[in-house]
Amino acid sequence: MSFRRIYKNSLSPGGKFKNRFTSPARLIEKDFLPRISSAPKNASSIEKTYTLETKESPFMINLEDLIIIEQNLSQILDKFNNPNSVLPACEEVYEMTAENTLNQVSLLYRDERTRDAIRYSMVLQAVGISLTHYFISEYSLNHEMALLIKSIIFSIHQGFLILTKFVLSRVPSDNTNTWALKLRQIIKEKKLRKHNIDNTTFLDHYNQLIVNNMKKMCRNFISRTDDPTARCLKLSVLQIIRHKGITISESRSLIEKAFGVKRENSEKLENTLKSPFLPETPNKIYTLVLDLDETLVHYIDTENRGKYLIRPYVNEFLQALEKNFEIVIFTAAIQDYADWILDDLDKNKLITYRLYRHHTVPAGNYFLKDLKKLGRDLSKVIIVDNVAENFQLQRENGILIKSWYEDTNDTALKELQDFLLAIPRNQIQDVRAYLKSTREKMLNGIDC
Ligand SMILES: [Mg+2]
Repeated sequence: MSFRRIYKNSLSPGGKFKNRFTSPARLIEKDFLPRISSAPKNASSIEKTYTLETKESPFMINLEDLIIIEQNLSQILDKFNNPNSVLPACEEVYEMTAENTLNQVSLLYRDERTRDAIRYSMVLQAVGISLTHYFISEYSLNHEMALLIKSIIFSIHQGFLILTKFVLSRVPSDNTNTWALKLRQIIKEKKLRKHNIDNTTFLDHYNQLIVNNMKKMCRNFISRTDDPTARCLKLSVLQIIRHKGITISESRSLIEKAFGVKRENSEKLENTLKSPFLPETPNKIYTLVLDLDETLVHYIDTENRGKYLIRPYVNEFLQALEKNFEIVIFTAAIQDYADWILDDLDKNKLITYRLYRHHTVPAGNYFLKDLKKLGRDLSKVIIVDNVAENFQLQRENGILIKSWYEDTNDTALKELQDFLLAIPRNQIQDVRAYLKSTREKMLNGIDC
């Protein structure tokens, strides 16, 4: 499978439903029972993610992903002459670095130089990996070209080890997190070259080596081919090299454009991402944030377009709550899919706002719903979700509802409705305190 096909499969509109079902969020729901009160979590799975504090806002990073990325980069270097090993490794690195929160590591540092070096290293990594994949899959490389690509991958690998050091420097050395210990071991054993300069200078050094080798590649090789994709790639690469302040997402768009992949309009997307997400004045005192999948509906894949089932009492629930709460759907699903359901489900327009995957904060295998970004007084906001990890940033505002798939006798929303209606009736000042005080009170199917 070519790199081009990978992108097309994962990003084309035709693949959107399939894509949704292979999303990490989806796997998590299947792999781990979501009720925190009744199901002990797999400890090692929790350890995989580590919260890093930044001046802006904390974010979680998946430490296991770092190990897998490093293993793939090593594999590309060690098995360079075997395309069957190199190509899947390139694909995995490209995909994982897109999903992971690595692009936020630069925020750990206040000093601009370090921030720039880390960001640019991520940019060059994505470019270098896609170039490697393309030329190995489409050409039989001559000695000179093979050497150039190998040097680029070597520098990417070194840069990645330095990046990992930046992450580990924020994990206390006495921390017993298994994944952090394993990463430290890798840094110790693996081939990070010894150096007497600071990590930022060292990273700059490898960034520059990558840039030099990419320039050589464009000049000595790509300029001589008639391959239209290679020529487009060259233009994208030169644009990225010249524009050092480019963002990770802009550079990926440029590369993917060269492969003929259309991306969602990033400018349009960025405008919708500016917080606060909701207009300034709430039209109700309270805000109720509801998850979609397995909270209100359950999607079933079919031969054709697929269909969805509606949880019992959804309409009654929305109608009863809408009088006192502004209702916000906050889903980790992509917008096309969510709108397809919501346009049909919410014929009476009871839902005030919709927020989608691009409003979430990706954190390893989760898509976090950060209520701070709504622009509402958090003492008046409640979130209901069937995955507790999704609201971990404001756990005190959360109500965990059991996942629903098809049970027609389910009464969780009915129970929840009665519970929530007591809030406006009793004019609760701070819903967080109210949830805390009733946390012991277990309702059928609801766990506060
Ligand atoms: Mg859900």
